[in-house]
Amino acid sequence: MTKQLLLGQTLGFSGNPLIGDWNDAVQLDSAGAVLIEGKQISAVGSAAALRAAHPDAKVTDYGDALISAGFVDAHMHYPQTGIIASWGKQLIDWLNTYTFPEEARFSDPRCATEVAERTLDLALDHGTTTLTSFCTIHPPSVDAFFGAAADRDMAVIAGKTCMDRNAPDNLQDTAQSAYDDSKALLEKWHGKGRASYAITPRFSPTSTPEQLAALGALWSEHPDCLMQTHLSEQLPEIAWVRDLFPDSRDYLDTYEAFGLLGAKGLYGHAIHLEQREIDRLNEVGAAVVHCPTSNTFIGSGLFDLMGLAKTGLSIGLATDTGGGSSFSMLRTMAAAYEIGQLRGTALHPAQLMWLATEGSAKSLHMSGQIGHLGAGAMADITVLDLGSTPAISQRSVRAADIWDALFPTIMMGDDRAIKDVWIAGQRRQA
Ligand SMILES: [Zn+2]
Repeated sequence: MTKQLLLGQTLGFSGNPLIGDWNDAVQLDSAGAVLIEGKQISAVGSAAALRAAHPDAKVTDYGDALISAGFVDAHMHYPQTGIIASWGKQLIDWLNTYTFPEEARFSDPRCATEVAERTLDLALDHGTTTLTSFCTIHPPSVDAFFGAAADRDMAVIAGKTCMDRNAPDNLQDTAQSAYDDSKALLEKWHGKGRASYAITPRFSPTSTPEQLAALGALWSEHPDCLMQTHLSEQLPEIAWVRDLFPDSRDYLDTYEAFGLLGAKGLYGHAIHLEQREIDRLNEVGAAVVHCPTSNTFIGSGLFDLMGLAKTGLSIGLATDTGGGSSFSMLRTMAAAYEIGQLRGTALHPAQLMWLATEGSAKSLHMSGQIGHLGAGAMADITVLDLGSTPAISQRSVRAADIWDALFPTIMMGDDRAIKDVWIAGQRRQA
């Protein structure tokens, strides 16, 4: 088996730096190395020790660049790649004005394939090695995404978006067809190579109680699958949910009542939560996903990252493309930092990097497999140039330590900071 040895500064984690002293969770080596055997990382340690132990390994020396686990985007919409940065709307108008007309185009499988390939390549350009995506109501949109990811050997999570009300006629399925199509796609793709299927109601305003119940039934038949949806993104949305589900205790209850609350539930946004919702999410071990560039771009609100993290809730980080305004998880970390500042907490670079890798992987129940720079994980790796532009390098050369050197790249970096990407042990830019 071919051995690859990557040399540079290595950053990994042994715990959650959002809880307790972040220092205790960090594994940092300024002269580190990552050993790859086949598709997996087999060791992380000092460059000197791993070079001596594996003289037969092929060496790639990244100098003082930072070797990290590849970024994991825990919530996005690949069909919205083409409408990113569209002006002037909040959530409901955004969907009606931009999203729904664009998603209707995905009835054409050629369109779906082209956008899926473009999205995955843009993600890799930005150092993101796993995407968790909503598709459209069209089953070929799911085939296109999983197929393009398989061509790139990328671990992805995706599902057919289900909607049977409050959407244009050409974007509606039914309770029965949502169940049937989702089941067929799940059986076709879940566990095939690096693909994972997620049962995907868009959000409760666009599903009837009958459809939510049908998808809840499907999830109970396949509890090993993730279920992804949206929760409490904007106040007018929450008021609409209250009108549509007058008997529900709160927004989360519109899922809970139909079997759509569970440990493998993934709830995007979760900005305006009631205490009961926080308690129930924690009780069942579900995860929420923070989408900071989307939350400011769409005008949704300020997610309470540290408040929720302290309750023990699992939290992933995501671009929410195209409601989010960037494909970059660096820019996404910067936006999380900015929202944290507005809520009175300055997130440490270690906490931001953990969220973009380990935190997202944990929210997907894939800890140790992806988003992890350690033995046994898949070798999905992103190498960061900490002086990728003149503006960044004139700051990072003054750095007192690695965090001071890394933070300008988090705040100001983009795809130019991505020096290299490895996917399942293969170097992308070889
Ligand atoms: Zn979303």
